[in-house]
Amino acid sequence: MTTTALINKLALIGAGLIGGSIARAARASGAARTIVATARSPQSRRRVMELGFADRVTDTNIEAVKDADLVIVSIPVGASGAVAKEIGPHLKTGAILSDVGSVKGSVVRDMAPFVPPGVHFIPAHPVAGTENSGPDSGFAELFVNRWCILTPVPGTDPAAVETLKAFWEKLGANVETMTPEHHDLVLAITSHLPHLIAYTIVGTADELGEVTESEVLKFSAGGFRDFTRIAASDPTMWRDVFLHNKEAVLEMLGTFNEDLAKLTRAIRRGDGEALFAHFTRTRAIRRGIVTIGQDSAAPDFGRPHPALPTARIARPYAVDGD
Ligand code: NAP
Repeated sequence: MTTTALINKLALIGAGLIGGSIARAARASGAARTIVATARSPQSRRRVMELGFADRVTDTNIEAVKDADLVIVSIPVGASGAVAKEIGPHLKTGAILSDVGSVKGSVVRDMAPFVPPGVHFIPAHPVAGTENSGPDSGFAELFVNRWCILTPVPGTDPAAVETLKAFWEKLGANVETMTPEHHDLVLAITSHLPHLIAYTIVGTADELGEVTESEVLKFSAGGFRDFTRIAASDPTMWRDVFLHNKEAVLEMLGTFNEDLAKLTRAIRRGDGEALFAHFTRTRAIRRGIVTIGQDSAAPDFGRPHPALPTARIARPYAVDGD
């Protein structure tokens, strides 16, 4: 038992990449005294037990939330309403109910109606992740120096918001608060559209007739492979994101298409000045991300580069007569 625990009992509904990382980080930081987790399938629940990142694994969501002080729902956003309906009547008075969904407007719409009076509903979104999913994919450091956005509904008890903020800070995150609508607009451009573009470009390359699949794979270091990491993200999660943040994504997609048309025109007209000015601006954005510590300054994302073959190091120059 640790004296620094903020939360007596933490219940995690969903124990994949995000739920599993919360459990690992909460345990490592001492943010929660007891961690109870559950997942939808018996296979995942068994795996959570084997991995041992929760104190207890329950078969049902209802058992998991019993007496919990903080309940975090970490499942695809399309399933949040049904789960809220199921657990709502079993939440303890004074408990905080939160989530981690990548869309916030639809989560508020779908979950809020099932939150009983006396329970503090504070939706959240940790802006951190990888392309992997499932209980094995989580790790305790996932949230360190990443942002977690809280979107409390009007009238939420400020003390409960402070508790949730302190919880995420214990996990290493920086916390910001905004409305669900603003969150969905911001994330549409910073996360949802980049995923849509990656899904598109990887699909397009796959369908090209003139370039073989082996050529796409072989020469992917030219830029393509960086899109493939994003395009390998979980299909269920991302299907739900696009279905549930439709308006904001379509709005950003409209702006994107206009900008793409501008660049297309510059290429067609041979307008090097316009291309150079645009690329200079975007390079500054990348540098800005590195400056605020949201990515490494290491070139090529810090990928290791294999050593030169020894024969070539030993004989760097061709010698006459070779
Ligand atoms: P994940 O690794 O696939 O884990 C999903 C969890 O939800 C699993 O425990 C799964 O159980 C359970 N689940 C799936 N469908 C369900 C349903 N219909 N009802 C109840 N439980 C269900 O996914 P994740 O990456 O942790 O994503 C979870 C949430 O975090 C999503 O809302 C996503 O938008 C958000 N998020 C993801 C990222 C990211 O980069 N991945 C980043 C920030 C936020 P089984 O294993 O038994 O199927």
